[in-house]
Amino acid sequence: MIKAATYNGQTVAVFGLGRTGITAALALAKGGANVWAWDDSEAAREAALKQGVQIRDLSSADWSEFAALVLSPGVPHKLPHAHWTAVKAEAAHVPIICDIEIFAQEIAARPEHQRPKIIAITGTNGKSTTTSLIGHILNACGKDAEIGGNIGRGVLDLDKMHAGKHYVIELSSYQLERTHSLRANAALFLNLSPDHLERHGDMAGYEAAKLRIFDNQTSDDAAVIGVDSDATKRIYSELTAKNGRRIIPVSTRKSLGRGVSVMNGKLYSNINGKCVEVCDLSKATALEGKHNHQNAAAAFAAVQSLGLNPKAIGEAILSFPGLAHRMETIGSAGPVRFVNDSKATNADAAKQALKSYDNIFWVAGGVAKSGGIEPLKEFFPNIAKAYLIGEAAPEFHKTLTKHKVEHKVSGTLDKAILCATRDAMHSGMKNPIVLLSPACASFDQFKNFETRGEAFRKETSRIIELFEREKHRMSAA
Ligand code: ADP
Repeated sequence: MIKAATYNGQTVAVFGLGRTGITAALALAKGGANVWAWDDSEAAREAALKQGVQIRDLSSADWSEFAALVLSPGVPHKLPHAHWTAVKAEAAHVPIICDIEIFAQEIAARPEHQRPKIIAITGTNGKSTTTSLIGHILNACGKDAEIGGNIGRGVLDLDKMHAGKHYVIELSSYQLERTHSLRANAALFLNLSPDHLERHGDMAGYEAAKLRIFDNQTSDDAAVIGVDSDATKRIYSELTAKNGRRIIPVSTRKSLGRGVSVMNGKLYSNINGKCVEVCDLSKATALEGKHNHQNAAAAFAAVQSLGLNPKAIGEAILSFPGLAHRMETIGSAGPVRFVNDSKATNADAAKQALKSYDNIFWVAGGVAKSGGIEPLKEFFPNIAKAYLIGEAAPEFHKTLTKHKVEHKVSGTLDKAILCATRDAMHSGMKNPIVLLSPACASFDQFKNFETRGEAFRKETSRIIELFEREKHRMSAA
């Protein structure tokens, strides 16, 4: 855990006692702050108390005493409606921050030569994959690197800082809007599409929150920007005009005169005026699809900006094991491959899988997002048959009927997997894929996307094992 000493001797309010709230309260107390930690849920307060957090009722506090309110990123301070702690903080002119800001202040308080390196990643999609990939590359290249933030461990839960340490931090817009002091040695802005608008008001608000990732950068730092959409192209131009740091554009659509691009599956770097082929991404089995090529290109650009050798980075990209629940191949039973893309909780994310494969036996459904699966119609020709589960099944049935896509309402995941496997086995198609890419949230039938993905893994692993046993029996007979 990181000791948060910048609030030593001051009184700090912490609201929201989930994983990061508890860590923030403990890190602040360890650093000498007087902490008032609270949560609206009694169960959360009790759990925090058991971990040594001092619980004090913020509704009866004198807010003029607080140096800051550390508000859990998921709790709104303005839209759709301000939480009561945010109202009290605003009235008392108490800054509202999150754990990332405390972490950033800790780094800024150290002499420059003792600061760790920060690689910060944001974007609407691909953050976790890119964060993990960068962590993997840095470790493979012999660096002391840890990943955290919006993925895995909260930043204050990471190991102690020292010069030479690399923190690879995934940042959501919710975290960025409460962070002011972070200086990223490499900041990555992958892409931008509408999301979380209820919280940020509109696209401009969402973009403004994400742009904070570039705050405080100096000419020694690098900004990596995916330039494959009009919005991010504009951001690239605006940032270039400000001329404060090195800017590296990344594209999977066109070859860049200067920057990092992916053409025909090959990753090219043209950062120093010389075009170099870094690696063949078609060999990176855990990074299938154009979207993952964007993640790989951005990761490469960021790590190279830190001075690492391009060849070693290329080799590390190819050995990336991938992340669970994101187009994760579980295995195969004969010709049928099983792919777990449970993290695809909206149509935009499911689109990436549907456009990466053909001969798809598609398991979809759960709690539908607005717009449903209509935006995926362009990729319906890649679907051999769909198997619908959960609350969204009636709505998806209508859309698929309209577009003449063969489908069946299976109801549950287990039934859908069994039917899809049987149909794929008998299809006679080349390389059929049973794909869970639900385009829906999971909470009608599962606790979260992870448990849904684990259920898919368990059932498909059982099928693979049965298939192998049967094959063995046949060959022995
Ligand atoms: P995040 O952490 O931003 O949610 P993940 O890396 O967990 O992103 O990927 C979530 C889903 O988003 C994946 O299943 C994939 O469908 C999609 N995705 C991943 N990378 C990209 C990208 N660069 N562009 C568009 N979609 C992506």
